[in-house]
Amino acid sequence: MPPKFNMMWIYIAVILGFLVLNYMYSSGGAKQTTYENFEKNMLMTGEVEKLVAFKSNDLLEVEVFIKPEKLKDEKYKDLVANEKSIFGATNRGPQYVFTMGSDEIFEKKLAASEANLPEGVSPVAVTYESRNNPWGGFFMTFILPIVILAGLWIFLMRRMSGGGAGGGQIFNIGKSKAQLFDKESQINITFNDVAGLEEAKTEVMEIVDFLKNPKKYTDLGGKIPKGALLVGPPGTGKTLLAKAVAGEAQVPFFSLSGSDFVEMFVGVGASRVRDLFKQAKEKSPCIIFIDEIDAIGRARGKNSVMGGNDERENTLNQLLVEMDGFGTNLGVIILAATNRLDVLDTALLRPGRFDRQISIDKPDLNGREQIFNVHLQPLKLAEEVDAKKLSAQTPGFAGAEIANVCNEAALIAARKGKVAIQMQDFQDAIDRVIGGLEKRNKIISPEEKKIVAYHEAGHAIAGWFLEHADPLVKVSIVPRGAAALGYAQYLPKEQFLYTTEQLMDSMSMTMGGRVAEDITFGRISTGAQNDLERITKLAYAMTAVYGMNPRVGNVSFNDSSGESQFHKPYSDQTAELIDAEVRLLIAEVYERTKALLLEKQDGLIAIAEKLLEKEILFQSDLEDILGKRPFANRTTYDEFVNGGVDGGGVPQTDIDLPSTVDTEDAEDVTPPSSVKESSN
Ligand code: ADP
Ligand code: ZN
Repeated sequence: MPPKFNMMWIYIAVILGFLVLNYMYSSGGAKQTTYENFEKNMLMTGEVEKLVAFKSNDLLEVEVFIKPEKLKDEKYKDLVANEKSIFGATNRGPQYVFTMGSDEIFEKKLAASEANLPEGVSPVAVTYESRNNPWGGFFMTFILPIVILAGLWIFLMRRMSGGGAGGGQIFNIGKSKAQLFDKESQINITFNDVAGLEEAKTEVMEIVDFLKNPKKYTDLGGKIPKGALLVGPPGTGKTLLAKAVAGEAQVPFFSLSGSDFVEMFVGVGASRVRDLFKQAKEKSPCIIFIDEIDAIGRARGKNSVMGGNDERENTLNQLLVEMDGFGTNLGVIILAATNRLDVLDTALLRPGRFDRQISIDKPDLNGREQIFNVHLQPLKLAEEVDAKKLSAQTPGFAGAEIANVCNEAALIAARKGKVAIQMQDFQDAIDRVIGGLEKRNKIISPEEKKIVAYHEAGHAIAGWFLEHADPLVKVSIVPRGAAALGYAQYLPKEQFLYTTEQLMDSMSMTMGGRVAEDITFGRISTGAQNDLERITKLAYAMTAVYGMNPRVGNVSFNDSSGESQFHKPYSDQTAELIDAEVRLLIAEVYERTKALLLEKQDGLIAIAEKLLEKEILFQSDLEDILGKRPFANRTTYDEFVNGGVDGGGVPQTDIDLPSTVDTEDAEDVTPPSSVKESSN
């Protein structure tokens, strides 16, 4: 990483600048002149306020102070301007200085001059000062700046070393920043706090066993693994699981994040790794947990055009060396977590380093129910609250989101002054977690509301009558935080391969919103921006990555290794072909959706009007209006609630934004890679 630009550097520059100026002006502030000039132009004209004389190297230096009111004269203009530009204050003097052979000569000359002073001009006072303190000058000009600079430097070093390592930070910069949990700072998280994740738990349970009874394994000649990598999307409980391991094993637990190794100084990362392992060996048996290991574990040697990656590589190399270096019997096990397995250096994944990969996925229906049960435990609930129902309504939620829902529900209930949390509070909390803060009194004109309703109805209709589209869970047009005006939530089937037909249907469904606006109002709005973005992404993926376009052919330009970031692996002609085919594909989707919605326009209007009336529609409402879905529902909401098969796959929440602002929020809920990831 290149050294970060730091505000501190600006401060340093400014302070240095002041020191230099100060230095220049403290000795050279007064202009050199002669006695003759002084006599003729200042003394005789009555402009002198006072004189200060002092001995300097056997000569007499006389400083001339001009009367402040006279400074405004043309004569002194450049003097004043000069001084003002630096300190913004008027020149207090001395403005001039001249040198005499001795004090006697000076007095004689001055007396002679003052004898012929013109009418009205009074003689000036002379003060004699002794300034023979060489140390004063020396101190001011040399020692003081050095002391200030040194102080500044130490201050900066302290700031840069993060200050968090405790003690004399400046010397601690190469020390590991790991947080240690041991007997004194008990971890009281156990496997009971981790819901679901049964397979992962079994895997890590074994690691706990390694630490507790290593002999059982080594007696048989087995080697104890050195590390395990927890892989999974954010919020699925990786950190929680690692903490539970430490809590169960009752061994010291070092916890740190990959970015803790990163510092702007060369060599610090590597030295922190060394220090971490040194500490760990002293405390063995113990567990080291490195969260977000991708911060240092990214594949080496790529993007080297950008330069500046050496420091991270050094850190990674040191980590590899340390992992190789300690024997398997030392009783140090490294757990690491990442959600980007694909970017990790292969050397890290090799047996002997992170021998095991434990994948932690988003929970399925049962998993969600168990997680709900954990987080509902401490809450005061109304009778009606049912973890099963809640889990059915939260497809695709990770553990962290479920924890969030439970907390939000409690807050919502408290705000309404309830004594127990009711199902409705959970519903509101779910909506809030998906779509952001509800803004019922956000000013939306009736016309806009109508556009949103028809847009969402378009999605709903398209989804209902397309065989391969995902069943809808609910559609809402309650305006929400960020910029979402409405959303539709679907329940996708858990599947990893998608056929062309499925992708086409999914695109049609996404296109439904814009088409509905078009055929209803004859004009379109910016509300479909997010939909179009997804369609475009998918269309490009189908054409250039999945080899689903007959003219482009069975080629895939997916750059999974990330090597050719800066040049496209195909010719300009191919690029043109891909662009043209994507346009054709999207146009086809549009026409197809339009034909469908025109055919079902009655249903569209019925749903849109119902939405305007009720604001939120569930699957059953759709069924009331449109009749049963003409296809066997692969996974219906009812089945869920009654504990049927689980969809659990990637959640698809279609958030509609009025404009280009804040698409980030929508992406959080809708992984744009939903289709991509499942392709291999
Ligand atoms: P990750 O490290 O995978 O990003 P965390 O372990 O930090 O996720 O999880 C964040 C929070 O989500 C946890 O503190 C916990 O409250 C909740 N959580 C996640 N998964 C689970 C689970 N399986 N059981 C119970 N709570 C969970
Ligand atoms: Zn939409």
